[in-house]
Amino acid sequence: MKKLNNENLKLGVQKKGRLTEEAIDFLRSAGLGFESYGQRLFSTCRNFPLEIIYVRDDDIPDYVESGAVDLGIAGLNLINEVQPRVTRLLNLGFGYCSLCLTAPKESNIVSPREFEGKTIATSYPNSTKAFFEKINIKVKIMKISGSVEITPILGIAQGVVDIVSTGSTLALNDLRVVEKLYNSEAILLANSKSIANPKKQKTIDSLLMRLKGVLAAKNYKYVMMNAPQAILAKIKKTTPGLKSPTISPLATPGWISIQTVIQEDIFWETIEKLKALGASDILVLPIEKLIV
Ligand code: ATP
Ligand code: ZN
Repeated sequence: MKKLNNENLKLGVQKKGRLTEEAIDFLRSAGLGFESYGQRLFSTCRNFPLEIIYVRDDDIPDYVESGAVDLGIAGLNLINEVQPRVTRLLNLGFGYCSLCLTAPKESNIVSPREFEGKTIATSYPNSTKAFFEKINIKVKIMKISGSVEITPILGIAQGVVDIVSTGSTLALNDLRVVEKLYNSEAILLANSKSIANPKKQKTIDSLLMRLKGVLAAKNYKYVMMNAPQAILAKIKKTTPGLKSPTISPLATPGWISIQTVIQEDIFWETIEKLKALGASDILVLPIEKLIV
């Protein structure tokens, strides 16, 4: 039997499912080198003291809470449902979905209040209970572990609370959203004792810096442009950058080259403003990592 290196930190990742590929890509983009083919139970990183353990996503909150693993990647949906006593370290920006209350397409239900006295099938009984208690509506909750969508067809539930991402699966199952309970994304969790342990904490901090570097880089683009010296002040205002832009003179008198970063979510409007101000030859590059 292969042995884990117990000196290393352990990170639980979903073995096979919707979080797997993105979690692995994310760890690789942070510079971690490891093999992840096939039916492995775990991978040892070549260049970082980390063991990546592949498990069912449902088990990750418990494994992190108990300390079976130091860290884990799980959807906020699971964390809200299980309420493990763990520390949330970082939102990871993938695995986006939402937990929704849905009803059969042909039903007349438009408000969650209309479920009073009815049966809701779900794999998220705690989230469902909390939601209906908050609006003071009494429902019967039926816990189902998979294929919840079938229950209205079987006539055993009038509503379903389940994860929705694109809505296409919902449409396929003749369901429609009545209300969104909450949004979810993948979260990096930590065992509370692990982060209190000085040696582990140092490694966790170092891992966090790498992961945050990847996340920050996704939010920015590197931009180089040429502009007349005269409009520098206006350009600085339009692109505050991280601290301030880097300026170098061009061979053409009165012209400068400016290097800065632009936030992804206001990228196009910023570029339009820069063009309108008189900037030209705008060159945009992706940023691999950004350590601030
Ligand atoms: P496992 O066998 O590991 O228990 P699973 O079938 O429970 O897998 P997946 O469907 O792979 O789980 O979903 C894992 C997580 O991915 C969900 O808990 C959720 O956080 C996230 N997710 C993102 N989009 C979706 C989606 N469209 N449907 C379900 N989950 C999604
Ligand atoms: Zn699962």
